[in-house]
Amino acid sequence: LEKRYRETNAESYSLFEEAISVLPGGDTRSVTYTQPFPTFIESASGCRMTTEDGDEVIDFLNNYTQAVHGHSPEPVVDAVVERFKKGNGLGSPTRDITELATRLVDRFPSVDSVRFANSGTEATMNATRAAIAYTERDHILKVKGGYHGTHDAVEVGITGDGREHPGIPSSVEERVTTVRYNDPDALKEVFEAHGSEFACFIVEPFLGAAGMIPATTEYLQTARDLTEEHDSLLVFDEVMSARVSVGGAQEKRGVIPDLTTFGKIIGGGLPVGAFGGREDVMNVYHPEEGNVGHSGTFNGNPATMAGGVVMLDLLDEDAIREINQHGDRIREEVQGIADDTDLPVTVTGEGSVFHIHFAEGPVTDFESAGSGLEATDDSGPNHSLAFYLGMRDRGIFMAPRGMGNISTPMTDEEIDSFVRAAEGALRDVEAI
Ligand code: PMP
Repeated sequence: LEKRYRETNAESYSLFEEAISVLPGGDTRSVTYTQPFPTFIESASGCRMTTEDGDEVIDFLNNYTQAVHGHSPEPVVDAVVERFKKGNGLGSPTRDITELATRLVDRFPSVDSVRFANSGTEATMNATRAAIAYTERDHILKVKGGYHGTHDAVEVGITGDGREHPGIPSSVEERVTTVRYNDPDALKEVFEAHGSEFACFIVEPFLGAAGMIPATTEYLQTARDLTEEHDSLLVFDEVMSARVSVGGAQEKRGVIPDLTTFGKIIGGGLPVGAFGGREDVMNVYHPEEGNVGHSGTFNGNPATMAGGVVMLDLLDEDAIREINQHGDRIREEVQGIADDTDLPVTVTGEGSVFHIHFAEGPVTDFESAGSGLEATDDSGPNHSLAFYLGMRDRGIFMAPRGMGNISTPMTDEEIDSFVRAAEGALRDVEAI
């Protein structure tokens, strides 16, 4: 498979060689580094991308769930371009910011007021900072394998137990506690021991980077009860899960956090993050009340905001129902095919996102996902990587670690193509 990939992606390889001479790893994003080398993309439109070697692939990666309407959706492009032409980066508020803020307040039950940033990383950094300022406590509780971006505090425990955190000051490590996902008893234990120290518990309604693993409602409700009991704040990181219903996972589960973070789908395909929630907590950012600093040259960037408004308006109940149904189909059908093989395969996910794990189920947390990150490990047989290369060979693009997601331009035809390709790719994996 690798040999074939090398043969059919020769131009990507030469671009990779060029890139690696000026960029450590050949790109500016850890996640895109993959064996044997990443595919360079020339262009994209709708749910299809064209590689630098001229192949057309169906994009089930969608920039790690950001491109929920596929690539360059016309109404979004029009809004962005039109706004940009009227001036961008103006150093003073524009009405676009209020427009997008109103969308978030209207959609998400926990959000009374909101602020914008330029990435999910900044969103979780500012939300946890709000919690620290509001509660006047220093500690943060997060989940093992929980991914909330790349600022210091949330890098702790990103790969579960036992790994060191190079580059993260030990003083930061000391004020972050990690707990196993989906385990209400573990949560009770840690809150009993340290509850009065936690400014907040930050948690994803489904574990994203660790393998699209949904939390049980019981788990999220336990988190709600314990944070309330210990005067700690509950922060839902909905950077990925916001797409599961109009009001995100919080509305779907009926568990309402104090603060919520957003990114990816809310910014017209441009860099974006947002955090919002209870007005009294968010007011730590009110210059006359809390006076916590929150600056950023591109916060509330007009083109980003204008594109975001259209993105969200297009992601209505009907659109979400359809992408979720496509997600259900992939989970059911791929699991069914895998069950007829000798491979240990567990397909997880929720709504329009899914992850194909080469692990015996049930997969409920970072530990049981096990192989989630194996695609970058070249020791021994690598099922995820072989599956990825098998899918690529059949015209399907997805995350090397086994993650995929649905965009609104997809129809049953693309879902059929995915399932057929998965059948073949699983045969490839069986053969290694
Ligand atoms: N939180 C979650 C749940 C995410 O999935 C991500 C990005 N994958 C982030 C935060 C960070 O967002 P960004 O990459 O925009 O910094």
